[in-house]
Amino acid sequence: MPAASAPLFQPYLTEDHRDLQRHVEDVVTAAIAPLAPLMEARGPHTDREVRQIVSETGWLGLLIEPEWGGMDAGHVAKTVVLAGISEVSPAAGAILQASILGAAPIVERGSEEMRRAWLPEIAAGRVWPTIAVTEPETGSHVQGMTTTARRRGRSGFVIEGEKDLIGNAALGDVHCVVARTGKPGAPRSLTAFLVEQHMPGLEVIRRPLNGLHGFGADELRFNQVHVPTSHIIGEIGDGQDIALLSSVVWGRLNLAAVALGIHRSLFEATTRWVSTRPRYAGHLADLEPVRRRVAEIWHRLMTAELVAYHAAYLLDQGQPCDAWLINSKLTAVRAGVRSANDAQQLHGGHAGRIGTPCEQLKRDIDLINAPAGPEDLQLKRLAEQALGPARAEWSVQHAIRRSARRRAPTVTAGPDPAS
Ligand SMILES: Cc1cc2nc3c(=O)[nH]c(=O)nc-3n(C[C@H](O)[C@H](O)[C@H](O)COP(=O)(O)OP(=O)(O)OC[C@H]3O[C@@H](n4cnc5c(N)ncnc54)[C@H](O)[C@@H]3O)c2cc1C
Repeated sequence: MPAASAPLFQPYLTEDHRDLQRHVEDVVTAAIAPLAPLMEARGPHTDREVRQIVSETGWLGLLIEPEWGGMDAGHVAKTVVLAGISEVSPAAGAILQASILGAAPIVERGSEEMRRAWLPEIAAGRVWPTIAVTEPETGSHVQGMTTTARRRGRSGFVIEGEKDLIGNAALGDVHCVVARTGKPGAPRSLTAFLVEQHMPGLEVIRRPLNGLHGFGADELRFNQVHVPTSHIIGEIGDGQDIALLSSVVWGRLNLAAVALGIHRSLFEATTRWVSTRPRYAGHLADLEPVRRRVAEIWHRLMTAELVAYHAAYLLDQGQPCDAWLINSKLTAVRAGVRSANDAQQLHGGHAGRIGTPCEQLKRDIDLINAPAGPEDLQLKRLAEQALGPARAEWSVQHAIRRSARRRAPTVTAGPDPAS
């Protein structure tokens, strides 16, 4: 085996992780690889076959505790799964990551009743959740959001407004929606709610992306959607914390893993290309400048893999690691985008042919920058870690709640949320 084909992150993997890795390879080879070119050829659409395939594996429950039917396999395991899928189909990786992330608010802050009602359904793949924070005007400025949730008597809240770029908006069954319940600028003025796809007044508006064909990040419009108080996630006023905790602890690494898969695929496609494309008496791979660019791609891939697995490992160990989580996404996306540029150079004019791996992967990696915060926002957060002002360590809050839940008495999965 050439050195470049060997996994670089072995020290972080246990025997269970290796078993999972083999299982991922089997599922990807048997079910996702044959689907990937069809998804790509169809262009922007919402693919439901990936949902079916992944639901059967139980991977939607990778981070859900066993008492709710999940695997509780941890973030290293999740990275193995998302990177393995994304190497063959970045869109399939994006579909799974968006709904793993969608479960974060319920896992992290849902009441016992809410977790009992929803997590078994999610772990079994019968219910796919999403997280809906971003708005058309305010984007990453979460505190500026204008979607409102107004109290309607004692029975619940009425949500009015719009969310945009919501991963799996059309595929999801339930959305974890953050909305304004207090005055703009006031502390604790945002609250998170579960909004079910069938609730009257909820509309999905398709807004196609230029890549990740098969994955959709669409608009959700809330026209006076009535939500019962049982659907509040955590407490009134917890919305901003829930959005940030989900994004930092779950989202950054999810996206890093998808970027790793794309990056590895770019590396493989490029080494194949330069090793087989004739030039003079040999191949492109014999030319020194070409070799140098391939070395640069591999160097970035190795670095990105190490950072992501290190961050996931620290998180699984319950260590404070916000800076590593931020760094994992920053490094994976930056490295992947730069390698896509090198791959484009090495493919010459052929990189512009629609449907070639290089063209597709370049489009796809570009789309991984914004979700869970674009590069400039990651740098802003890293600067805060280095220079202040001090912020809550979300990884610590995650670890504290997780160990508290593990100490709590075991409970059994309850009835179907629809009943
Ligand atoms: C494929 C994909 C999937 C997504 N999935 C989801 C999802 O599931 N749920 C969800 O809620 N959202 C999702 N998003 C939305 C994503 O979270 C937002 O795109 C992101 O938060 C940035 O918001 P914005 O695009 O409105 O950019 P803006 O916030 O408008 O920022 C645009 C640019 O302005 C600069 N900028 C803005 N603010 C600052 C600042 N404070 N400091 C420095 N520079 C700044 C940066 O250069 C930034 O890139 C997804 C997006 C994509 C592309």
